[in-house]
Amino acid sequence: MQVIPIVIPHFNTDQFGTFTGEVERANDPLTTARLKIKDALRISGETLAVASEGSFGTHPQIGFVPADQELLLLIDTKNKLEIVASKISTNTNYAQQSVTTWEEVRSFAKEAGFPSHGVTLRSLTTLHKGISDWKLLQQTFEQLIVSTSSIQIETDMRAIYNPTRMKVIEETTQLLLDKINSTCPSCHFPGFDIQERVTGLPCRLCNSPTSFTFKLTYICQHCSYKSEKLFPDGDSCDPMYCNECNP
Ligand SMILES: [Zn+2]
Ligand SMILES: [Zn+2]
Repeated sequence: MQVIPIVIPHFNTDQFGTFTGEVERANDPLTTARLKIKDALRISGETLAVASEGSFGTHPQIGFVPADQELLLLIDTKNKLEIVASKISTNTNYAQQSVTTWEEVRSFAKEAGFPSHGVTLRSLTTLHKGISDWKLLQQTFEQLIVSTSSIQIETDMRAIYNPTRMKVIEETTQLLLDKINSTCPSCHFPGFDIQERVTGLPCRLCNSPTSFTFKLTYICQHCSYKSEKLFPDGDSCDPMYCNECNP
């Protein structure tokens, strides 16, 4: 079977939330990606779609480090198939700062990878997105600073203005492809994926259960065939991560 990809013209993804806050995202990333697909399939009348959804903030595990969480979803309504891939990467320029001088603007922009990466400038009343050349950046800043001293510069996180994010989406796409190519050993349906992760991998030193993975359960979405994989990351945990040995 051949799949011919189409992009729906003028599809308004801003309605599902924007990074710059004009529209708050009402749902979690997976629910949002499902809503995007539902809308795209309704408009196009097709049965198979892929959507992506990115989130930025501090790293959920490491903390204090900016992170890019990308999610890619494939839904095939004809075959009742849903495959999701996600990745958390610290490879991001995600940042924001209050600025009062051109020097501060310039140094932030340089750090953010400008002009190959876009930035946004905002005051309390205006928002300028997708700025990606030095002249426009300076003009916009000078325009704003005349009437306010409260200016915020931010990295533009939309993928078209952010090649670093594109790269993380590419890596997540590879994960999605791997999951599509993972087929059920029983019925050969695609998307044979982890449905449950059981933690409690024993510590190598004291044998206490840790937060590391002990067992993975794979379940087929089509025929419900189930298989378990013990010790996916080795049969014991480094005592360095053990709450008993190294609290
Ligand atoms: Zn199956
Ligand atoms: Zn231990």
